[in-house]
This record gives sequence, structure tokens and C-alpha cells, in this order.
Amino acid sequence: MVLSDALAARSQQSCELCAQPGSSLTAYPVPPYQDALPDHQVALCPTCLDTLAHPEAAADHLQCLTGSIWSEVPAVQALSHKLLRRLPNEPWAAEALESVELDEAVLNWSEAEDRAKGDVVVHTDAYGAVLQAGDTVVLIQNLNVKGANFIAPKGTQVRKIRLVPDNGGQIEGKINGDTIVILTQYVKKG
Ligand SMILES: [Zn+2]
Repeated sequence: MVLSDALAARSQQSCELCAQPGSSLTAYPVPPYQDALPDHQVALCPTCLDTLAHPEAAADHLQCLTGSIWSEVPAVQALSHKLLRRLPNEPWAAEALESVELDEAVLNWSEAEDRAKGDVVVHTDAYGAVLQAGDTVVLIQNLNVKGANFIAPKGTQVRKIRLVPDNGGQIEGKINGDTIVILTQYVKKG
């Protein structure tokens, strides 16, 4: 799809992921959207467009995501977040996911396609509330932190949790400066 005037203006005729300028930009609707609304689209250069099918094969180029994730455009945020999640072996990708705070709507958008395919594991707290990366949770019982040799008391707040991708029963969070794995059955969304 060619760029609409609105998308051309917003992107300033540059790729919205890697900032490469050019006339061969494509208007890419971020799934689940398939329409031509600029709010649902991202202007992509041919290189970035090629990375969508196999992001892990183009991890070097996709380091641009550490910049684009800070875009103010929800569509760019959602696509960047989604691609970063597909780079589980890149420390810089994990760092970017950890440092950014996105609206719940954007996070849901980022996961919409995977969820439709059944690929997304849903994390819920002890009471069934859905947990998102970046949430704050509260421990509902004392936790013996193995290896770190201390007990995190009931009521401890854990900010900016991360979801363990393949295990709906586990999240990660920092307690006393240590990142530890916490079982979701012992937390309440804060
Ligand atoms: Zn690009």
C-alpha cells in the first residue's frame, strides 16, 4: 500500500522503525488491522518490511526498535513491541521492553495476532486478574527467595514485572535489587 498523505506527513517520508528516508516506503497495517487508516499503519522501508516474517534473522537491523519503541505513535509502539518480543535472545531487546511503559491498549494490540493464533500465554494473578508486562504486583504471602537468602514479606510491592513467555504461572520482578522468578499464584495485581 502506498502512503496516504497523512502517513507521509507523520512519517516525514522516512521509515518509522529505522528512520531511513526514501520513496519506496510501504504503508503496513499492524495486525489485526488490515485497513488503510493511517492510525493503524506504519510506514516501513523495504528492509524493515522484510524483517517482519523472521525478525530473529535480522536482529542487527532491528536494533532500530530500541529507538522506535519510544515513538509517540501507538501503531509504531505496537509494532516495535511485537518485534522486540520476537527477539528473546537479544539482551538489548529485553532491556528495551523492560524500560518502556506502554498503554494497555498498545500492549493488547502488540499481542493481538499471537493471541488469535493461540500463541500467547495469559498470565493471571492469584485472583484471576490478567497481568501485563510493566504491572505492579503485591506478594500475598511471604516468599523465601532461593539463592538470595532472604524472605520477601507478604505485602512487598514488585514494580515493572516481566512475563515469562512460555509459562503462564511465572513472572519476573526485582526484589531488593535482584531479579527473581515469582509464581503468579502468590501475587495480586497492585
Ligand atoms: Zn526501516
